Amino acid sequence: MSHKVNPFESLQEQIDEAAALLDIEPGKLERLKRPERVLETNLSVEMDDGSVELFRAFRSQFNGDRGPYKGGIRYHPGVDRDEVKALSGWMTYKTAAVNVPYGGGKGGIRIDPSQYTTAELERVTRAYATELRPIVGVDRDIPAPDVNTGQQEMNWIKDTYETLEGTTEPGVITGKGLDSGGTKGRVRATGRSVMLTAREAFEYLDRDISEATVAIQGYGNAGFVAARLLDDLGADIVAVSDTSGGVYNPDGLQEFAAKQYKRETGSVVGFEGATEQITNRELLTADVDILIPAALENAINEQLAHELGADIVIEAANGPLTPGADDVLSESDTYVFPDILANAGGVVVSYFEWVQNRQRFYWSESRVNDRLERIVVDAFDDLVETYERRDVSTLRTAMYLVAIERVRNAASDGGIWP
Ligand code: GLU
Repeated sequence: MSHKVNPFESLQEQIDEAAALLDIEPGKLERLKRPERVLETNLSVEMDDGSVELFRAFRSQFNGDRGPYKGGIRYHPGVDRDEVKALSGWMTYKTAAVNVPYGGGKGGIRIDPSQYTTAELERVTRAYATELRPIVGVDRDIPAPDVNTGQQEMNWIKDTYETLEGTTEPGVITGKGLDSGGTKGRVRATGRSVMLTAREAFEYLDRDISEATVAIQGYGNAGFVAARLLDDLGADIVAVSDTSGGVYNPDGLQEFAAKQYKRETGSVVGFEGATEQITNRELLTADVDILIPAALENAINEQLAHELGADIVIEAANGPLTPGADDVLSESDTYVFPDILANAGGVVVSYFEWVQNRQRFYWSESRVNDRLERIVVDAFDDLVETYERRDVSTLRTAMYLVAIERVRNAASDGGIWP
């Protein structure tokens, strides 16, 4: 029997697992497990035909002990309060894991953006930005892109905020277009940290990544960039998929051509460079070295975890494994490199964007990429050091130990007031 796994409960289980190894007072632990506040609001927006549609929208500010709340905005029909709460918690522990000076937040609108025109999406986005205005700010809460949002939405939000505030403040949001105060290297940053995590993982496990085969679930921005950069290291991308299905070629798919095909047809399904069309399930259980879930939460449940063909999982999506899947894999020889490290490149380069915005001084792409690499490699080293020293059962728990200690220390440094 499958039941829908609540991502907020998954987050809380992950925190409990690590916190059990730390001596945290129950009252303080509760603070680490739930958001400080959640905005839930209606957006009433005029459609092109003059009718009015209502959209439910959210912003969860999970924890601000280490700095301003930070995290993306998602446009998806599945967005709900608990999903946004979970995602904001993962952001809190992600920024702590890679040690950038932020807390965690996340927002979303319940909408299928493919059903609306650009003009309608602009009005939806500006309505959302207007709701956000009192609670965001360059030192308060800094949104960014997430699933189905990108530079265009960030530019609109920045413009709405600046117009309403009567100022120029590009650092109020990250992931903007280059001419609107964005940074070089941001679009590829998430895929780049996935590649860097895979590269470090192979070195740690004393294996050769140039011999590796890779399957990627989700061929959006993160999945595609990870494919490209892993191909540069010599790995073979043998399977990719999206919501419509997947494609497979044991000799390697040409990732550029597959992306182009998806751009033209809306899906990788039918891509002529494949030898076989496969289902999502076949992709997830494919006999490969590396599996990269790069879509949404709960992609791999307990049952699927028993059937995985890969022995290295690099989480490009947020929360792609259910707690049941984690339990199964912790008993197996599979290494799961957690989302809060592997996909942190996005928020790390958002941090660089914010720093550049505040200094009004912009960096070269190589400077962005070099600094990102340093941060990911340092966080990887913290992860394996803790994994070995604390002798914990999963890499996820080890990464949470690092992150929770940082958040807890920041909270206790500040004390309780009044
Ligand atoms: N949405 C991305 C994430 O889940 C990036 C967040 C950001 O850049 O603030 O990490």
